[in-house]
Amino acid sequence: MIKLCDTTPSSLEFLLDGHPGYRRTQILDGIYRSHRLPAELTTLPRDLRSLLEGEIQPALTHVAESASDNGETVKWLFALEDGQRIETVLMRYSDRVTVCISTQAGCAMGCSFCATGQGGFGRNLTTAEMLEQIFWAERAAKPRAVTHVVFMGMGEPLANYDRTVAAARRLRSDFGISPRRLTISTVGIIPGIRRLAAEGIPITLAVSLHAANDRLRDELIPMNRRYPISGLMEACSEYVSATSRRVSFEWAMISGVNDRAQDAEELASLAIPLRAHVNLIPLNPTPGYAVIGTAPAEVARFASQLRRLGANATIRDTRGREIAAACGQLSMREAQNQLRLPHRRPNLVDSLPSEH
Ligand code: SAH
Ligand code: SF4
Repeated sequence: MIKLCDTTPSSLEFLLDGHPGYRRTQILDGIYRSHRLPAELTTLPRDLRSLLEGEIQPALTHVAESASDNGETVKWLFALEDGQRIETVLMRYSDRVTVCISTQAGCAMGCSFCATGQGGFGRNLTTAEMLEQIFWAERAAKPRAVTHVVFMGMGEPLANYDRTVAAARRLRSDFGISPRRLTISTVGIIPGIRRLAAEGIPITLAVSLHAANDRLRDELIPMNRRYPISGLMEACSEYVSATSRRVSFEWAMISGVNDRAQDAEELASLAIPLRAHVNLIPLNPTPGYAVIGTAPAEVARFASQLRRLGANATIRDTRGREIAAACGQLSMREAQNQLRLPHRRPNLVDSLPSEH
């Protein structure tokens, strides 16, 4: 049996024995360009279609769907064959259609503020499982087409490096989505950033910085102890030189933690030399982390301070917030509904100085 997005010219060779050569292109175009399931490839002869239906099967099953922004944002919870859960989000804007995909079920990086991190690690996704998220999003987006893909759902893409890069390459070759329209978001795995720089694919790199000094970043992001900020900035600089793409810094604003004037100064001093673009977003509340996102007026103040200092900053759209679109939250809610799991204790708040 072949997984839907493992369908390639070579995997079809055996199935198409005795059929004319053009069937191969018809099937591949049907799946990757028209986003049809084998049963829907009605231009194929019936016997071939039923053969394909039996042999080519989806890897993802829809478990839950929620919509917001008048249906412009849709979030899916999918089950994988082994029961693991992942999330995918489709965001329709006036000028683009963006899909946010997961690269792992869960995540081993343990960031304190992140629902996925709080839930622990399941497993790496296969390339076919990553691509099938685009397949379903393309179907839902019709009559429009997906224009941008962000690897910003569950998991750490650079901890599942080979399969993620293979997915990025196949997005171009199979789905026709250019690497310039792809963004890989990382917690800051330095060797992964260096490898990606050497691949020669012009993907946008987003680094989830959230803190501009090691003391705070160590608390928020355990991986920072292994890959501290100075080395991370060097790797980012290599990435910019190798790809001529800008790097962006993600900054989830946490009230009283990383939203003070001094934080803006430290952040600007990292962003300016790299000409990095800073994306600000108020922290989405998660059950396991008892602090709150910065109020909108304070986010705006922080953004203007950054700009005054000479950094490039935008306030990110909080699409899907009302459907718990922050990384990992839908699956956590689902798990709690089903299993009535107790909330985990917050792990950062205890170690913060008392004035926070
Ligand atoms: N593991 C990768 C990509 C997935 S996380 C990474 O960390 O970059 C996608 C983004 O969501 C990251 O920028 C992450 O820091 C952010 N994020 C996680 N939890 C969040 C929360 N509660 N509120 C706002 N952003 C959050
Ligand atoms: Fe993993 Fe990213 Fe969440 Fe950190 S923020 S736990 S790296 S998914």
